[in-house]
Amino acid sequence: MRIVLLGAPGSGKGTQAHRLAERSGIPQISTGDLLRAAVARGTPLGLQAKAAMDSGGLVDDALVLGMIRERLAEPDARAGFILDGFPRNLVQAAALDGLLAELGQPLDAVVQLEVDPAELVRRISGRRSCADCGRVFNVLTSPPPSGAAAVCPKTGAPHRLIQRPDDNEATVAERLRVYEEKTRPLIAFYQSRGLLRVIEAEGGLDAVTQRLAQALAAPAAARAARRNAPKRAARRKPARTAGRRRPAVRTAKRRPARKKAPVRAARKKRAASLRTRKAARRRR
Ligand code: ADP
Repeated sequence: MRIVLLGAPGSGKGTQAHRLAERSGIPQISTGDLLRAAVARGTPLGLQAKAAMDSGGLVDDALVLGMIRERLAEPDARAGFILDGFPRNLVQAAALDGLLAELGQPLDAVVQLEVDPAELVRRISGRRSCADCGRVFNVLTSPPPSGAAAVCPKTGAPHRLIQRPDDNEATVAERLRVYEEKTRPLIAFYQSRGLLRVIEAEGGLDAVTQRLAQALAAPAAARAARRNAPKRAARRKPARTAGRRRPAVRTAKRRPARKKAPVRAARKKRAASLRTRKAARRRR
């Protein structure tokens, strides 16, 4: 399964991609996570990306594309992948198309997570993640559980909740603006390729996960239909062509022939009997 999750910041792409990856065993590839890791490690790529990320803008396409190309070449991505936060503009979407064509691994589906803008802001302002395992919580809508479940799987201690530096009000507004301008056009891009599914991404996490699973089941059915289609098409096409065209041509040629023949024969017959009758009269 090779899929892209599309949606505004705060639409839940990361959370749903994580759940889907756990269930299906295929990797979640989040350019936001990869970039944050590069920033945290202080790599040259991270240093270049940081300013754009802090301001809520997009990181340079060449940089992100290089990073994605490397990540998709890793062995775990051969079984499929869930792209989260990539592509984010038309240049990246076209480059992804090219890259996947090279690899002979086209996308199976693109799912757009739809959320009301007011809800997006509420979600982002309550968002916190564990500094150690990266798990995302929301202090307003899905706080970390208490008791044993509250323990971080990495440290064995309670989750250490931090707020992302770009989850502040001014940066969020810019990220939403950039989404509308650069990323929203991808909806039409993927719609025109027949890959787009749109799901309502408000309500409980489980309900959204279920809608996502349903949306992904639809392309699986379409794929199965496509797999059978060439055989059926090969069988049907000549038959259809024959069914539609040949009779039209044939009837056009044959009908006059069929009509004319009896008329001519009847005329000949009548003329012959006239001649016979005239000859008989003459003999009399
Ligand atoms: P969100 O979807 O909540 O905005 P992400 O974690 O996906 O968060 O991205 C955080 C930031 O990382 C973005 O605001 C942007 O600066 C950068 N980023 C992530 N993915 C891309 C990408 N595909 N192209 C350019 N910049 C990206």
